[in-house]
Amino acid sequence: MIRAFAQRSLVTVIGNGELVKSNYNYKLIDVSHTVEHGMITYKGLPAPVITDHLTREESKNYYAAGTEFQIGRIEMVANTGTYLDSPFHRYPDGTDLAGLGLYSLANLDGMVVRRLGTERAIQVAAVAGLDLKARAVLFHTGWDVRWRTEGYSDGAHPFLTEGAAKYLADAGAALVGIDSYNIDATDDRSRPAHSILLSQGIPIIEHLCGLGELPDQGFKFFAVPVKVKDFGTFPVRAFGIVPNK
Ligand SMILES: [Zn+2]
Repeated sequence: MIRAFAQRSLVTVIGNGELVKSNYNYKLIDVSHTVEHGMITYKGLPAPVITDHLTREESKNYYAAGTEFQIGRIEMVANTGTYLDSPFHRYPDGTDLAGLGLYSLANLDGMVVRRLGTERAIQVAAVAGLDLKARAVLFHTGWDVRWRTEGYSDGAHPFLTEGAAKYLADAGAALVGIDSYNIDATDDRSRPAHSILLSQGIPIIEHLCGLGELPDQGFKFFAVPVKVKDFGTFPVRAFGIVPNK
Protein backbone atom coordinates (compact mmCIF):
# COMPACT_ATOMS: atom_id res chain seq x y z
CA MET A 1 0.00 0.00 0.00
CA ILE A 2 1.29 3.41 -0.95
CA ARG A 3 0.76 6.25 1.44
CA ALA A 4 1.73 9.75 0.45
CA PHE A 5 1.76 12.35 3.17
CA ALA A 6 1.52 16.02 2.32
CA GLN A 7 2.01 18.53 5.07
CA ARG A 8 0.47 21.91 4.43
CA SER A 9 -0.07 23.90 7.58
CA LEU A 10 -2.39 21.68 9.62
CA VAL A 11 -3.44 19.47 6.73
CA THR A 12 -2.63 15.81 6.40
CA VAL A 13 -3.69 13.95 3.28
CA ILE A 14 -3.49 10.17 3.08
CA GLY A 15 -3.09 8.36 -0.25
CA ASN A 16 -6.54 8.66 -1.77
CA GLY A 17 -6.77 12.33 -0.86
CA GLU A 18 -8.93 11.80 2.20
CA LEU A 19 -8.64 14.64 4.61
CA VAL A 20 -7.61 13.51 8.05
CA LYS A 21 -7.01 16.79 9.76
CA SER A 22 -7.74 20.06 8.09
CA ASN A 23 -7.94 23.75 8.48
CA TYR A 24 -9.56 24.16 5.07
CA ASN A 25 -12.59 26.37 5.25
CA TYR A 26 -14.49 24.33 2.65
CA LYS A 27 -15.54 20.79 1.80
CA LEU A 28 -15.08 19.10 -1.58
CA ILE A 29 -18.08 16.94 -2.44
CA ASP A 30 -17.53 14.32 -5.14
CA VAL A 31 -20.67 13.69 -7.22
CA SER A 32 -19.16 11.36 -9.85
CA HIS A 33 -19.12 7.58 -10.21
CA THR A 34 -15.89 5.57 -10.19
CA VAL A 35 -14.98 4.13 -13.61
CA GLU A 36 -13.73 0.56 -13.57
CA HIS A 37 -13.04 -2.36 -15.87
CA GLY A 38 -16.20 -4.14 -17.04
CA MET A 39 -18.58 -1.49 -15.73
CA ILE A 40 -21.68 -0.84 -17.86
CA THR A 41 -22.91 2.76 -17.81
CA TYR A 42 -25.47 2.73 -20.60
CA LYS A 43 -27.39 -0.34 -21.72
CA GLY A 44 -26.17 -1.48 -25.15
CA LEU A 45 -22.85 0.39 -24.97
CA PRO A 46 -19.70 -1.60 -24.13
CA ALA A 47 -18.00 -1.46 -20.74
CA PRO A 48 -14.50 0.01 -20.46
CA VAL A 49 -11.61 -2.42 -20.93
CA ILE A 50 -8.71 -1.52 -18.64
CA THR A 51 -5.38 -3.24 -19.19
CA ASP A 52 -1.65 -2.62 -18.86
CA HIS A 53 0.19 -1.07 -21.79
CA LEU A 54 3.38 -1.52 -19.82
CA THR A 55 3.40 -3.73 -16.75
CA ARG A 56 5.50 -2.93 -13.70
CA GLU A 57 7.46 -6.09 -14.38
CA GLU A 58 8.23 -5.13 -18.00
CA SER A 59 9.13 -1.59 -16.96
CA LYS A 60 12.07 -2.89 -14.92
CA ASN A 61 13.92 -3.32 -18.23
CA TYR A 62 13.98 0.45 -18.70
CA TYR A 63 14.70 1.88 -15.25
CA ALA A 64 17.25 1.69 -12.50
CA ALA A 65 17.03 -1.11 -9.93
CA GLY A 66 14.09 -0.48 -7.61
CA THR A 67 12.40 1.93 -10.04
CA GLU A 68 9.26 0.78 -11.82
CA PHE A 69 6.16 2.23 -13.43
CA GLN A 70 2.88 1.06 -14.83
CA ILE A 71 1.32 2.57 -17.97
CA GLY A 72 -2.35 1.75 -18.17
CA ARG A 73 -4.56 1.53 -21.19
CA ILE A 74 -8.30 2.19 -21.24
CA GLU A 75 -10.57 1.40 -24.14
CA MET A 76 -14.01 2.91 -23.70
CA VAL A 77 -16.88 4.65 -25.40
CA ALA A 78 -17.16 8.36 -24.64
CA ASN A 79 -20.34 7.79 -22.63
CA THR A 80 -18.75 6.10 -19.62
CA GLY A 81 -19.30 6.86 -15.93
CA THR A 82 -20.39 10.39 -15.04
CA TYR A 83 -19.95 12.24 -18.32
CA LEU A 84 -20.41 15.62 -19.94
CA ASP A 85 -22.03 16.16 -23.34
CA SER A 86 -20.80 19.08 -25.42
CA PRO A 87 -22.90 20.42 -28.33
CA PHE A 88 -20.82 18.29 -30.76
CA HIS A 89 -22.43 15.15 -29.27
CA ARG A 90 -25.71 16.20 -30.88
CA TYR A 91 -24.68 18.60 -33.67
CA PRO A 92 -21.87 18.11 -36.22
CA ASP A 93 -21.11 21.84 -36.19
CA GLY A 94 -21.52 22.20 -32.42
CA THR A 95 -18.70 23.06 -30.04
CA ASP A 96 -16.56 20.02 -29.26
CA LEU A 97 -14.87 19.18 -25.96
CA ALA A 98 -11.73 21.10 -26.91
CA GLY A 99 -13.81 24.14 -27.76
CA LEU A 100 -15.73 24.35 -24.49
CA GLY A 101 -14.78 27.39 -22.45
CA LEU A 102 -13.59 26.71 -18.92
CA TYR A 103 -16.08 29.30 -17.70
CA SER A 104 -18.87 26.94 -18.79
CA LEU A 105 -17.41 24.03 -16.80
CA ALA A 106 -15.70 25.29 -13.66
CA ASN A 107 -16.33 27.51 -10.65
CA LEU A 108 -20.00 27.85 -11.55
CA ASP A 109 -22.58 28.92 -9.00
CA GLY A 110 -24.33 25.63 -8.29
CA MET A 111 -27.98 24.93 -7.55
CA VAL A 112 -29.62 21.60 -6.73
CA VAL A 113 -33.28 21.09 -7.63
CA ARG A 114 -34.72 18.32 -5.45
CA ARG A 115 -36.89 15.84 -7.32
CA LEU A 116 -37.06 12.90 -4.94
CA GLY A 117 -40.27 10.92 -4.94
CA THR A 118 -41.94 13.16 -7.49
CA GLU A 119 -43.24 12.28 -10.95
CA ARG A 120 -40.50 11.25 -13.34
CA ALA A 121 -41.16 14.00 -15.91
CA ILE A 122 -39.51 17.20 -14.67
CA GLN A 123 -41.75 20.06 -15.76
CA VAL A 124 -41.26 23.83 -15.94
CA ALA A 125 -42.86 24.17 -12.51
CA ALA A 126 -39.76 22.55 -10.95
CA VAL A 127 -37.58 25.49 -12.01
CA ALA A 128 -40.02 28.36 -12.65
CA GLY A 129 -39.13 31.44 -10.64
CA LEU A 130 -35.63 30.23 -9.70
CA ASP A 131 -32.61 32.41 -10.45
CA LEU A 132 -31.02 30.14 -13.06
CA LYS A 133 -28.82 32.63 -14.91
CA ALA A 134 -25.22 31.42 -15.29
CA ARG A 135 -25.92 28.60 -12.83
CA ALA A 136 -25.01 24.93 -12.90
CA VAL A 137 -28.49 23.49 -12.33
CA LEU A 138 -28.36 19.92 -10.98
CA PHE A 139 -31.46 17.74 -10.71
CA HIS A 140 -31.40 15.43 -7.71
CA THR A 141 -33.79 12.55 -8.46
CA GLY A 142 -32.19 9.77 -6.40
CA TRP A 143 -32.03 7.48 -9.43
CA ASP A 144 -28.29 7.02 -8.76
CA VAL A 145 -29.07 4.45 -6.03
CA ARG A 146 -29.86 2.05 -8.92
CA TRP A 147 -26.42 2.54 -10.52
CA ARG A 148 -25.05 -0.77 -11.84
CA THR A 149 -28.33 -2.58 -11.28
CA GLU A 150 -30.89 -3.77 -13.86
CA GLY A 151 -33.26 -1.11 -12.60
CA TYR A 152 -30.94 1.72 -13.64
CA SER A 153 -31.73 1.19 -17.33
CA ASP A 154 -35.35 0.01 -17.09
CA GLY A 155 -36.58 3.01 -19.08
CA ALA A 156 -38.51 4.54 -16.17
CA HIS A 157 -35.81 7.04 -15.13
CA PRO A 158 -36.55 10.70 -14.33
CA PHE A 159 -36.00 13.12 -17.21
CA LEU A 160 -36.35 16.75 -18.21
CA THR A 161 -39.36 17.69 -20.34
CA GLU A 162 -39.01 19.80 -23.47
CA GLY A 163 -40.70 22.68 -21.66
CA ALA A 164 -38.30 22.54 -18.72
CA ALA A 165 -35.29 22.39 -21.07
CA LYS A 166 -36.56 25.45 -22.96
CA TYR A 167 -37.12 27.31 -19.70
CA LEU A 168 -33.56 26.54 -18.52
CA ALA A 169 -32.10 27.65 -21.84
CA ASP A 170 -34.17 30.86 -21.95
CA ALA A 171 -33.21 31.63 -18.36
CA GLY A 172 -29.50 31.39 -19.25
CA ALA A 173 -28.46 28.31 -17.26
CA ALA A 174 -24.73 27.65 -17.78
CA LEU A 175 -24.85 23.87 -17.43
CA VAL A 176 -27.52 21.30 -16.60
CA GLY A 177 -26.91 18.01 -14.79
CA ILE A 178 -28.95 15.06 -13.57
CA ASP A 179 -28.28 11.94 -11.47
CA SER A 180 -30.38 9.85 -13.85
CA TYR A 181 -29.76 7.41 -16.70
CA ASN A 182 -30.52 10.00 -19.36
CA ILE A 183 -31.67 13.62 -19.22
CA ASP A 184 -34.27 12.63 -21.84
CA ALA A 185 -36.91 9.92 -21.77
CA THR A 186 -35.42 7.15 -23.88
CA ASP A 187 -38.78 6.43 -25.57
CA ASP A 188 -38.69 9.95 -27.05
CA ARG A 189 -36.28 9.44 -29.90
CA SER A 190 -36.08 13.15 -30.72
CA ARG A 191 -34.29 13.69 -27.37
CA PRO A 192 -35.74 17.20 -26.77
CA ALA A 193 -33.67 18.08 -23.67
CA HIS A 194 -30.39 17.18 -25.40
CA SER A 195 -31.50 18.95 -28.59
CA ILE A 196 -32.55 22.19 -26.89
CA LEU A 197 -29.76 22.54 -24.32
CA LEU A 198 -26.94 21.57 -26.68
CA SER A 199 -28.31 23.81 -29.46
CA GLN A 200 -27.93 26.69 -26.98
CA GLY A 201 -24.36 25.70 -26.09
CA ILE A 202 -25.32 24.44 -22.63
CA PRO A 203 -23.31 21.34 -21.62
CA ILE A 204 -25.19 18.42 -20.04
CA ILE A 205 -23.95 16.07 -17.33
CA GLU A 206 -25.59 12.69 -16.82
CA HIS A 207 -25.06 9.90 -14.27
CA LEU A 208 -24.22 12.24 -11.41
CA CYS A 209 -24.43 10.73 -7.93
CA GLY A 210 -24.56 11.77 -4.29
CA LEU A 211 -26.31 15.07 -4.95
CA GLY A 212 -27.88 14.74 -1.51
CA GLU A 213 -24.48 15.74 -0.09
CA LEU A 214 -24.67 19.16 -1.75
CA PRO A 215 -26.73 22.03 -0.34
CA ASP A 216 -29.51 23.54 -2.46
CA GLN A 217 -27.36 26.60 -3.18
CA GLY A 218 -24.23 28.37 -2.01
CA PHE A 219 -21.62 26.09 -3.60
CA LYS A 220 -19.33 26.17 -6.61
CA PHE A 221 -19.55 23.38 -9.17
CA PHE A 222 -16.83 21.87 -11.38
CA ALA A 223 -17.10 19.21 -14.12
CA VAL A 224 -14.19 19.43 -16.53
CA PRO A 225 -13.67 16.83 -19.27
CA VAL A 226 -10.41 16.18 -21.12
CA LYS A 227 -9.84 18.62 -24.00
CA VAL A 228 -10.37 16.28 -26.94
CA LYS A 229 -10.79 17.66 -30.47
CA ASP A 230 -13.67 16.44 -32.66
CA PHE A 231 -15.15 14.58 -29.71
CA GLY A 232 -18.49 15.21 -28.05
CA THR A 233 -18.65 13.48 -24.68
CA PHE A 234 -16.17 12.50 -21.98
CA PRO A 235 -16.17 11.36 -18.34
CA VAL A 236 -15.68 14.05 -15.71
CA ARG A 237 -14.75 14.22 -12.05
CA ALA A 238 -17.71 16.34 -11.00
CA PHE A 239 -17.58 17.99 -7.60
CA GLY A 240 -18.87 20.87 -5.54
CA ILE A 241 -17.00 23.18 -3.20
CA VAL A 242 -19.10 23.93 -0.13
CA PRO A 243 -17.84 26.56 2.31
CA ASN A 244 -17.77 25.54 5.96
CA LYS A 245 -20.18 27.53 8.03
ZN1 LIG B 1 -26.38 12.76 -22.92
